[in-house]
Amino acid sequence: MQFHYIGNAAHTSSSGRTIPVIDPSDGQPFDELQRGSADDIDAAVRSARQCYDSVWSKLSAAERGRLLMRLAEAVAEHADELAALEQRDCGKPTRQARADAVALVRYFEYYAGACDKLHGHTLPYLDGYSVLTWREPHGVTGHIIPWNYPMQIFGRSVGGALAAGNVCVVKPSEDACLSLIRVAQIAAEVGFPAGAINVVTGLGHEVGDSLARHPGIDHVSFTGSPSVGTLIQQVAAERHCPVTLELGGKSPQIVFADADLDAALPMIVNAIVQNAGQTCSAGSRLLVERSLYEPLLERLGVAFENLRVGPAAMDLDVGPLIRASQQQRVWDFLSDAHVAGIATVAQGQVVEEAPESGFYQAPTLLRDVPVDHRLAQEEVFGPVLAAMSFRDEDQAVQLANATRFGLVAGIWTRDGGRQLRMAKRVRSGQVFINNYGAGGGVELPFGGVKSSGYGREKGFEALYGFTTLKTVAIRHG
Ligand code: NAD
Repeated sequence: MQFHYIGNAAHTSSSGRTIPVIDPSDGQPFDELQRGSADDIDAAVRSARQCYDSVWSKLSAAERGRLLMRLAEAVAEHADELAALEQRDCGKPTRQARADAVALVRYFEYYAGACDKLHGHTLPYLDGYSVLTWREPHGVTGHIIPWNYPMQIFGRSVGGALAAGNVCVVKPSEDACLSLIRVAQIAAEVGFPAGAINVVTGLGHEVGDSLARHPGIDHVSFTGSPSVGTLIQQVAAERHCPVTLELGGKSPQIVFADADLDAALPMIVNAIVQNAGQTCSAGSRLLVERSLYEPLLERLGVAFENLRVGPAAMDLDVGPLIRASQQQRVWDFLSDAHVAGIATVAQGQVVEEAPESGFYQAPTLLRDVPVDHRLAQEEVFGPVLAAMSFRDEDQAVQLANATRFGLVAGIWTRDGGRQLRMAKRVRSGQVFINNYGAGGGVELPFGGVKSSGYGREKGFEALYGFTTLKTVAIRHG
């Protein structure tokens, strides 16, 4: 049985209800979570406020940094344990789960070093005045986290908030809580004061909603779907609470005829099959210059046919999807493609050892997807790549910008002028030229434009969002 973690102690939900934890590799329950309530959120916010007022806000930036560094070291020592938890909970192949634990360590290391480098400025003003700005924490921050990369998103969101001097109340996804409850326990073990990091589990429309509405929450960092992002924004607007929204994407990989295909191909494949395509920044649209279209599809088709899908512990190319409803969602998209006469170029293979009750989906490469079809417009959140061709640079830009999203774009060309022209014209929060990282390293600011959200997490930039600026004008004559 799993418990909330509030004020450095396990806490049973006031609702007395629980949620089963399902292993996506076989569809079977193996643990239980607390189904939290508004009362549990209230307890967590009170614990956080008490910590902020009496301890956390009195620590120096250097002391916060030391604590975060201790947490990074402890997480590194527990990396295999955390990876195993997330593997079972989310169906991540072993290499992916371990990479996520390493990324969590990196976030804490990065933000440990950043604590005492965040400062304001002095400003020129009238004669007889000195003006300075202070970067101040919001206070108690709320963090609503999705199921696809729990450790990574906890690291970037909570790591940045703590470094900037805030305390945190975290609401993980009901589909993926185990690793985060354990990280909060590890934080207590290395000396984080009670109330600095609180984790309350439960359903989105119950616990998540209560968190976003709670008057004691001073800032909400939400990572998840655009539709829930809208609800969060509306709820927060009622009390003018600032929010950061990290939402979805339909990111294009734009390949020109002069691209280095040996470099591009494995990255194009990985960008859509990593985490079974359940990545906000998945490269889910492939735009290819016309003269390269057929030869590229031929090579990609071979690569897709060689992909193997199976239980997380087998550590194949692709693991299961998170849950049955996600699998059904992908099937619905593929069935729509079939009805619209969209051709499949190639599919990977689900291995025989995969239990029938697991949530598996073979990676699928589709061609000539019309730009207005939902497969070219909406997030599938599964390993489905929609290919289309373009005539020239102008049409490439037009297609790249033709969705409501703007999270990440990949550009593959050897022409230096075109690299920069395209990077300027594509509307997205990140652009990768001749490489593609799903969000990139911890140092790189990340976030979207349009319906992909606003505000930035990761890198130093995140610290500006996790603080508010106070201007102090002193008249001294
Ligand atoms: P989701 O929006 O369903 O859930 C995200 C979180 O919000 C969960 O913790 C959920 O319990 C909670 N929630 C649900 N309803 C709520 C409500 N009414 N009020 C408050 N909280 C509520 O998203 P998901 O299915 O968990 O994750 C997939 C989505 O997340 C995709 O759209 C993906 O692109 C996006 N995502 C974005 C990023 C990014 O950084 N831009 C990263 C990862 C995932």
